[in-house]
Amino acid sequence: MQAIKIEALTHIYSKKTPSEKVALDNINLVVEEGEFVAIVGHTGSGKSTLVQHFNGLIKPHKKGKNGRVEIYGRATTEKKGLKQLRFDVGMVFQYPEYQLFEDTVAKDIAFGPKNMKLDKDEIDRRVRKSLELVGLPYDEFAERSPFELSGGEKRRVAIAGVIAMEPKILVLDEPFAGLDPEGVREITALILKLKSEICPTIITVTHDMDSASTLADRIIALREGKIVADGTPKEVFGDRALIKEIGLDVPFVARIVDKLEERGIVLNKNIVTIEELTTELERIRTGGGDNV
Ligand code: ADP
Repeated sequence: MQAIKIEALTHIYSKKTPSEKVALDNINLVVEEGEFVAIVGHTGSGKSTLVQHFNGLIKPHKKGKNGRVEIYGRATTEKKGLKQLRFDVGMVFQYPEYQLFEDTVAKDIAFGPKNMKLDKDEIDRRVRKSLELVGLPYDEFAERSPFELSGGEKRRVAIAGVIAMEPKILVLDEPFAGLDPEGVREITALILKLKSEICPTIITVTHDMDSASTLADRIIALREGKIVADGTPKEVFGDRALIKEIGLDVPFVARIVDKLEERGIVLNKNIVTIEELTTELERIRTGGGDNV
């Protein structure tokens, strides 16, 4: 089933002014339910503009003059479906912890479900479930002030507030920004858990190519508002000429592969995870390879 369908989408900021900027240029894209997509590209390449189209924060022209965006078959320009769209597509913005504002964790998480006009029992169920999903025990955290939590805990609460709306599609904008390696590991594990337990379709905008290649099953690279690469991490990062042309980094593991090649150990260019690298090196060590 198609979760997202985008046809010929163009978005221009400050149109017909001296600061006119084409942020998206004829984007065509289908994301199937169940996919995990990482959107990568330099600052200013159009990533945020693209994802803001997913929940109707930015909409194409009503008459389709600059393209069309459909979420589960419904155009985002349909006025009737706008509220539902906001519930169906959960957006976790950059540094979401800055958006916490209620005096208790439970109230903050309940904000979205309350907007959905759910009854009290259902709201309570969702607050409990979301807290549990993000790994914060209800009894310990529900009545605390979000402002006295650690940075990592705050980010979890902010994510819980979005998943409490039980979105069909979860969009995360730079979920690892500002986290230390331990924080990155924790949020990575959390995102994988959310995918398997609550929200099958996940789209993440990220600068972190290691996370992109280990988490996502599809990488979409943008440059100057255009999709310039779209494939599995192996396909996209394995094409070093393309990556160089786009000016992106490659995952750490791919950098090791390149370094080994400089020393005469030629491995497959499409190795992107540490597991693949270990297997390949082991194969060579035990005589299974003919490259060394
Ligand atoms: P990214 O998320 O990849 O950094 P953006 O979608 O934020 O890219 O930006 C794409 C282009 O649109 C950039 O050139 C940016 O300066 C411009 N842009 C983004 N938001 C606005 C805005 N509100 N008004 C004018 N220009 C904008």
